Amino acid sequence: MRVTIAQGRLVNDQVFEGIKNVLQGTIITKGKRIKPVLTFNFIENDEHNFEELIDEELDYILKKKRLEEEVEINSNGKPFDHFFDSIRLLRSINNISNDNLIVLVTGERNNRNFLGFTDDTLLNTFIYANEWNRIYSTRINSIYPISFEIFSWIIRSKMFKSVTDLYESSHTNNQGCIMDFCEHIKDHKFKSRTADICETCNVILERNLFPEDIKQYILKSLDTIRQQMLNRDIENREAKSIELKYVHGVLEFVVPSFNDLVIKFSPQAKAVFHFFLQNPDGVSYKRVIDFRQDLYRLYRRFTNREGDQIEIEIINRMLGFDQGEIYNGKNNLSGAINLINETLKVIFNPHIIDNYLLKKSKERYSISLNRNLFIDRTIV
Ligand SMILES: [Zn+2]
Repeated sequence: MRVTIAQGRLVNDQVFEGIKNVLQGTIITKGKRIKPVLTFNFIENDEHNFEELIDEELDYILKKKRLEEEVEINSNGKPFDHFFDSIRLLRSINNISNDNLIVLVTGERNNRNFLGFTDDTLLNTFIYANEWNRIYSTRINSIYPISFEIFSWIIRSKMFKSVTDLYESSHTNNQGCIMDFCEHIKDHKFKSRTADICETCNVILERNLFPEDIKQYILKSLDTIRQQMLNRDIENREAKSIELKYVHGVLEFVVPSFNDLVIKFSPQAKAVFHFFLQNPDGVSYKRVIDFRQDLYRLYRRFTNREGDQIEIEIINRMLGFDQGEIYNGKNNLSGAINLINETLKVIFNPHIIDNYLLKKSKERYSISLNRNLFIDRTIV
């Protein structure tokens, strides 16, 4: 079975890379070379459009809107068809056969607040990649619940005859089964921690002659992912300090002990991250605007385009700075910081991640990293 995973709009590159690694590395073969029954094909999005920012005071919605409920016209998020249309387009551009499943991992919100859904073919499926911290603690890397959902949608694609059939078979009273509807999205935690398929659903799988080898492969993968999300395991992993380095020649942040892994930041993210690394005491989010010259300078460095007004506009928008007016109470800094933190969470283990994240305390943003661990190779 072949499944295509596509990186949609506003999906952090590092998160997509992390999902790839999880999907390809879930089965430990212990030196044995086994032919996977399930192969993945990845389509990356090279638009680099993730600089579009999330609202400053993000209003987390924790409830789904069922299909039988009306959606207000001006509601937050795109209708499902917007995602299905993009998948159909991807299918034709990439010549993907009509009987192959495509999962679009998207950073765009949908207007029913679903974590993912599919169209009537069950082969055009999207999964929402952002805001998983509404459900899981910030220490849980979003690549795990997203991968969990990818495997679940692979099962569902072969389990039902139509989307109506699928929707009607979902459990409104959650059972700790991959078919739990989870109207309150926080309940997702319970199905990911059981990674189980209930008796009723097993009967459906058998009736529809779901291929046993694929089923076993997916169940093992779900188990591996489940382990990664258990708090007791996160607590037990050994702590150690890891250096972070800024290399001026290539204008990148790298992690030397991870074989010089390059952190995939956008120019804006690099500017903001470097700015806070250079200000260990942190800066109040209301006062960041006073440091805009520093941010312009850093941003120009990372875009390598001196004096471009449009680029400065990006920083102005982030700071809520408009034509010389003073701080107006609204900026998008927390959106930019969210994107940085999501990237970092893919790289650093949960037990040390707190040192690298940009955190807000008493209106000040700062990075708590011991600066002895930051090697700044800036050439002034
Ligand atoms: Zn079930």
